[in-house]
Amino acid sequence: MNKKMSKYEVVIIGGGPAGLTAGLYTSRAGLKSLLIERGIFGGQIVNARQVDNYPGFPEGISGFELASLMQEQAIKYGLETINATVTAIKPGNEYNVITAEGNFKAEAVIIAAGSEYRKLEVPGEEKLVGRGVSYCATCDGLLFRDLDVAVVGGGDTAVTDALELSEHASKVYIVHRRDQLRASKILQQKALANLKLKPVWNTVVDEIIGDNKVSCLSLRNVKTNDITKLDVAGVFVAIGLEPNSQYFADIVELDKAGLIKTDEMMATSASGIFAVGDIRKNSPRQVASAVGDGATAALSTFRYLRERS
Ligand code: NAP
Repeated sequence: MNKKMSKYEVVIIGGGPAGLTAGLYTSRAGLKSLLIERGIFGGQIVNARQVDNYPGFPEGISGFELASLMQEQAIKYGLETINATVTAIKPGNEYNVITAEGNFKAEAVIIAAGSEYRKLEVPGEEKLVGRGVSYCATCDGLLFRDLDVAVVGGGDTAVTDALELSEHASKVYIVHRRDQLRASKILQQKALANLKLKPVWNTVVDEIIGDNKVSCLSLRNVKTNDITKLDVAGVFVAIGLEPNSQYFADIVELDKAGLIKTDEMMATSASGIFAVGDIRKNSPRQVASAVGDGATAALSTFRYLRERS
């Protein structure tokens, strides 16, 4: 990237549906726009085998294809993109967006950095990722046909994952740290009626055991402190998402969970910085709502820049 060209009207951080939509709108509005993505364009939807609830695709569409189409459309209208990790946004007359690949001056910034799967942070987890430890039942569930697996968590994701896994696996344990699920009533009813699903209440995972692949879990009952072993070939961690907001904590206001606070026009506590998608407080975490956030933030950016000039 030519550093002389590193000045933009708007820099967008994150290339999921929210960021790509923001980029489509700002580029079409004629704003010189750069989108910075640290990984794969498309964000979390690239892992979705099938997206059935995005309007316009009555037969559903693969997440990867939907993301590719969004990227193609934004680039067609002039959005520039780069692969880099943003480590800070520095204030000044213009914002300075800091990355290892160079720094980018921006009159406005749209943060669309999304969130990541929360980790258990127990021994064995990191070592066995892709060898039985998974964060995506839709992506990896088929690998566990006729095997016993465990899902950790008690929310909607854990129960949805467990139900999906029960289509392939022989038994699905739901390991939850409390004695009741947090998931919606309808999902709870489905889970409790499914004979392949076995809840393991008041229990946490202390260790994931296996040499080259997962062979069992060391479990601890949080009421009695009893330790037991559970033989499984796979463990699906579904304990929520962690917003990727650590690099923005000193420039915009976050809530206790690390989500960025915005108003309904996606404005954050810092003038000229907007936040969209999963990283913002009260996001419904849907592709359709992320796209709506992106469009709203782009319109807000346009208005902000017009008033500034
Ligand atoms: P969530 O609602 O935050 O639930 C996380 C679960 O993991 C909770 O049961 C929590 O236990 C447990 N947990 C958190 N940290 C843990 C740890 N360190 N060790 C063990 N357990 C831990 O997250 P989610 O299920 O991913 O859902 C996120 C959002 O997406 C929700 O708004 C949900 O409604 C939505 N969603 C909806 C659907 C659907 O409608 N079909 C599907 C998926 C997700 P506690 O209960 O004890 O806190």
